[in-house]
Amino acid sequence: MKKNKVVIVGAGMVGMSYAYSMVNQGTCEELVLIDIDKNRTVGEALDLNHGLSYAPRKMKIYSGDYADCNDANIICITAGATQLPGETRLDLLHKNTKIMKSIVGEIKKTNFNGIIIVASNPVDIMTYVVWKASGYDRKKIMGSGTTLDSARLRFGLGERLNVNPKAINAYVMGEHGDSQFVAWSYALLGVQPIYQIASKKDSSISFNDLDLIEDEVRNIAYKIIECKKTTYYGIGMALAKITQAILENENSILTVSSYLNDEYGHDDVFIAVPSVVNENGVREVIELPLAKEEKEKLDNSIKIMKENITKLDI
Ligand code: NAD
Repeated sequence: MKKNKVVIVGAGMVGMSYAYSMVNQGTCEELVLIDIDKNRTVGEALDLNHGLSYAPRKMKIYSGDYADCNDANIICITAGATQLPGETRLDLLHKNTKIMKSIVGEIKKTNFNGIIIVASNPVDIMTYVVWKASGYDRKKIMGSGTTLDSARLRFGLGERLNVNPKAINAYVMGEHGDSQFVAWSYALLGVQPIYQIASKKDSSISFNDLDLIEDEVRNIAYKIIECKKTTYYGIGMALAKITQAILENENSILTVSSYLNDEYGHDDVFIAVPSVVNENGVREVIELPLAKEEKEKLDNSIKIMKENITKLDI
């Protein structure tokens, strides 16, 4: 079996939900936990190891340090401050920029030559910071983008249409945050456009319902934070899926935060767009001919990302 090694930097709620998903799904063969709180990674590694008897795959799980990045396939950065009640993801900007730069500084001291996935918020901007500070190939760096939001969208549509969310191909694009939008012109139930379903007289879903679902997807993190302070299971599973797509060379289409190199008429920015993900990272960005209002929403999201990036000392 091919050796697949994943390093998680940041063994908090998101990092450990990701780790737990991977242990349960047998995503990798070796899993290393790094955190500024060393005790935490020691305890978490012990706890996860105790579940291995019931896991689908033999795994080596341990508390490590940056030297363990040398031969890793993937480093996933889940370290950082979290969104407090009343805070937007953009409020985390400066706190987490400092943390990203210190982590990248450590990674650069190693011979790491794999793929970096960033989950820390605001994720599209933190992905840019990691890319800029590292100087690594842009194709080998991606953010979790709107993989979680797209899953929330599929869940919402699945509930409303009474179908398995996996039968829905629909994507949230743009910022993982307030300026995100649904590319409704490409939303399908199986092979049928969801707009076509909503336009039928006796349909179980209306255009108004679609607006409500889009709003809910955009704002649901605030509700979760109000109820239980922070969100982690959904993003943990989304990160496990991205990891699987890389390790298994799947060429899966995921709305990761990818670098735009003239796609959608933009460059020098990371933003969530449907992208083909494989063992080399982002194989390509899929450039959809978006409807006019959707393209304007993407442009707006990118404008916000760029305005914030200029405020940073990278
Ligand atoms: P948490 O507080 O539970 O964990 C953060 C961990 O990072 C802590 O264990 C802390 O010790 C560690 N850490 C801080 N600075 C570090 C450094 N320099 N090096 C190594 N480790 C360091 O937070 P969480 O709930 O796990 O959230 C982590 C990040 O993920 C936040 O930025 C949060 O906003 C983000 N998040 C992203 C998504 C998404 O969809 N992308 C979803 C939820 C949360």
